[in-house]
Formats: sequence, structure tokens, C-alpha cells
Amino acid sequence: MRKRWVIAMIIAAVLAAVLVAGGLYGLHRVRRPHAPYPASLKVARDLAEFERRLQQAVAAGPRLALDTLGHVRYDAFEAPLWRVRRVPEGESRAHVLLTGGVHGSEPAGVESLVRFIEELAQDPDAWPGIAFDIVPLANPWGWVHNKRCNQQGYDLNRDFASFNTQEGRILRDLIAANRYDLLIEHHEDSSADGFYLYQIANGYTALCRDVIDDLRERGHPIEQNTWMVCFRTRDGVLYTPLWALRLARAGRGLSLGNYFRLTQSDRAFLFESPSRRPFEDRVAMQGAARRGLLFLRGDHWH
Ligand SMILES: [Zn+2]
Repeated sequence: MRKRWVIAMIIAAVLAAVLVAGGLYGLHRVRRPHAPYPASLKVARDLAEFERRLQQAVAAGPRLALDTLGHVRYDAFEAPLWRVRRVPEGESRAHVLLTGGVHGSEPAGVESLVRFIEELAQDPDAWPGIAFDIVPLANPWGWVHNKRCNQQGYDLNRDFASFNTQEGRILRDLIAANRYDLLIEHHEDSSADGFYLYQIANGYTALCRDVIDDLRERGHPIEQNTWMVCFRTRDGVLYTPLWALRLARAGRGLSLGNYFRLTQSDRAFLFESPSRRPFEDRVAMQGAARRGLLFLRGDHWH
């Protein structure tokens, strides 16, 4: 009788191991890239104009500096991965990382960050005590060609466990070389009707609620019904628990925000504006949410 139990337990354990391994392998399979895009793909946006705007803003802003974190190189395409730094006057109490354009087909976040840089140039004393590192365009090839993925067909936002991509490795090295107190990622969602944000395995629920209420008061639509795997938005906030991040890492499908959350700080948030809405509205939503997250918390980001 005992022997039977032992055999049954062994069979159950083997079955469970096969199921888990199969699930992780399946997750890994779907994270693999589709075929690289052809070099002849139509150009949708002008990188030279983008660079000109950054340089103009930085030249006008006494506390701004522009540098290159690395270069993204493909056949017949090369682009720097730019960072704009803002060092506040006096002591800096918080170091904030802002990223946009991880998905090249989500341009409102990129535009919103360029405008934020232009605002910092105009008003050098804004946001006292906060040092900003701004990476407005994390996937330049995707943005130029209006594609979600990079030229190799990789979704950068699933690459932060494997680091198969040049872009992912550059961002990993940036995060590893700094101590950030807060990350805000700027994305867009083509299936959403309203704005929402990811509260990435942290306890800042009241703050997220305040940000969403503020957007609603400004007349922006709030998303009620978007699902991310088994998690659903609750009135504009999509909470992801820590175990889901660990599962994504085991499945080699980790996002930038999740990687930041697991390796650096729990102050990780991600914005999603609804791509179906007019462009200017989406840029306004991203800006309002960012201001809310920075401002409503007051000086507690340190
Ligand atoms: Zn995205």
C-alpha cells in the first residue's frame, strides 16, 4: 500500500514538473521574435528632426545635458540611444528615470517626453531637488518605422531576462550604473478606450488612485476593462503582483518595468494611453499622469 503511494507521488511530481516546464517553454516560444523586418521598410518618422529638437532644448536649458548611452546598429540603419539629464540646482533628493518609445508604434509617450524636456529647458527651476534621466526613444528603429518591435522582430519589453537585443542591453547597463528612486515608462495601448497605469508590485495604491482621479477631473477617459494575462484594470489601475513578475522572469519574458522592480526599486509605474484617441489628447494624458505621479507624492520620492 505504501509503495503504491510513493509511486503515485512520483508520477504526480513528474507530471507537475512536465506541466511547469512545458508552460515555461511555451511562454519562451511566444516570446521569440518573428522574422527580421526587411531593410526596405517604409520610413514613418524623421530621426534627424527628433535629434534637432533634443539638441535645441538642451542648448536652451542651463541644467540639461544630452548624451548617448550606446548605438543601435542594423543593416543600413544606425541610431544613438539618447539620454537627456537634468541636474537640479543644489542637492538632488531623488533620481527619476523616464523612458518612452520602447514600442516604436506608441508615439504619444515619446512626444510627451520631448515636450517635458522642452519644459525643463524653459523653466530650469521646475521640479526642485529632482534629478531626471530621460530616455525618450528606447527603440529608435521601431519608432522610425512605426513598428512595435526592433528590426530583428524582438519585443524589447519582453527582453529583460534574456537581453537578446542591443536596446535591452543598453538600458540594463544604464539601470545597473545608477540608483534610481522612481521609474515611469510611457506606453500606449491600441485596444484601450481610456488611460490606465500599471502599479508594478508596490503599495502606492492611494497615489495611483489620486493620479487617475486627477486625470478624470481633467476630462480624460479612464480605462475600465483591459486584461493583462489574468489581471484586469480597476478603474484605470492595473496592479501586478510580485509573483507574476517572477513568473515572467522564469519564462524569459520580463519587461523593463518588471526588471527595474525586481532589481532596483518598488517605485515602478507604466502609463498606457489609448491609441484610438486623438494624438494631442494622448500626449496630454501622459503629461498629466507624469505630473500627478511626481507632484501628488510631493517630496517623498527619496
Ligand atoms: Zn507598449
